[in-house]
Amino acid sequence: MKIVALAGGVGGAKLAHGLAQILPPENLTTIVNTGDDFEHLGLNISPDLDTVCYTLAGLANPVTGWGRVDESWNVFENLEQLGAPTWFRLGDQDLGTHLERSRRLRKGDTLSAITNDFCKAWGIKHTILPMTDDPMPTIVDTVEKGELTFQEYFVHQCCKPKVKGFRFEAVEKARPAPGVLEAIDQADAIVICPSNPWVSIDPILAVASLNHACVVALSPIIGGETVKGPAAKMYRELEISPSALAVAKHYEGLLSGFIFDQVDKELKFEIENLGMQTMMTDSLMKNLEGKIRVAKDVLKFIDTLL
Ligand code: GDP
Repeated sequence: MKIVALAGGVGGAKLAHGLAQILPPENLTTIVNTGDDFEHLGLNISPDLDTVCYTLAGLANPVTGWGRVDESWNVFENLEQLGAPTWFRLGDQDLGTHLERSRRLRKGDTLSAITNDFCKAWGIKHTILPMTDDPMPTIVDTVEKGELTFQEYFVHQCCKPKVKGFRFEAVEKARPAPGVLEAIDQADAIVICPSNPWVSIDPILAVASLNHACVVALSPIIGGETVKGPAAKMYRELEISPSALAVAKHYEGLLSGFIFDQVDKELKFEIENLGMQTMMTDSLMKNLEGKIRVAKDVLKFIDTLL
């Protein structure tokens, strides 16, 4: 079975990692959000792409979910001493990734070509594609601070400003990266990973609109809250009660199936009323075993839909 997974950072990477333990490389392509990409200290940083790559390579920091395991912070400490902007933490190994990505982008290579080479170097066999090679930054509109770029909102402002809306700058000029539309075309099913619907999945859908008979999503909201990150806070600020039902509604019209946590079993009827099949599971992926368990559930569910 050929699967395309759409992923943001930490939540997306968990499910993509689980799927990669089960599916052979030719049967899994992960398309990753690049709306969070930004320039910092003169370097090109692709936070979600790196989180997915480090996770699939077994190089991710298991505590934070982002950055590298066994990281050192020598450069960062020196930057701090010199008074450089250090609100975005960059470890030494991680900096190596950004230095090389920035060097290659400057000489004209595309983000997708660079990502492909990095994956080979890190021993990742499954395909990982940025959603686009073109700049398409996510802008968060806030009550207190007006429009902020995503990392300014997420890291520098610690998601504190109240969200009013989102837009994707230059979306009209952004084209899907090479391989994105082909992978979607050839897939038996598309899996929307448990990533933030507003700022991780919507940018991917904006650049690569899905026209597929079998699309399933796994809810990032469990019992009305996120495991990590601001998705539930965003729903509340947009005056939508955060729940698995709200996520299902977010993707209404797109989904044939929706998977959500068993703690939300009372929502089953309402979700099915939106016109989608459902599956309930223990959707919390605490470790590799949990990722594989949930990935198996997702594939089993897809089997029943095909
Ligand atoms: P970010 O870009 O690093 O914030 O990552 P994502 O957008 O991919 O993921 C954030 C979302 O992942 C949050 O809404 C979390 O609730 C969700 N998430 C993280 N871990 C899990 C998990 O184990 N299970 C489920 N169902 N969702 C998760």
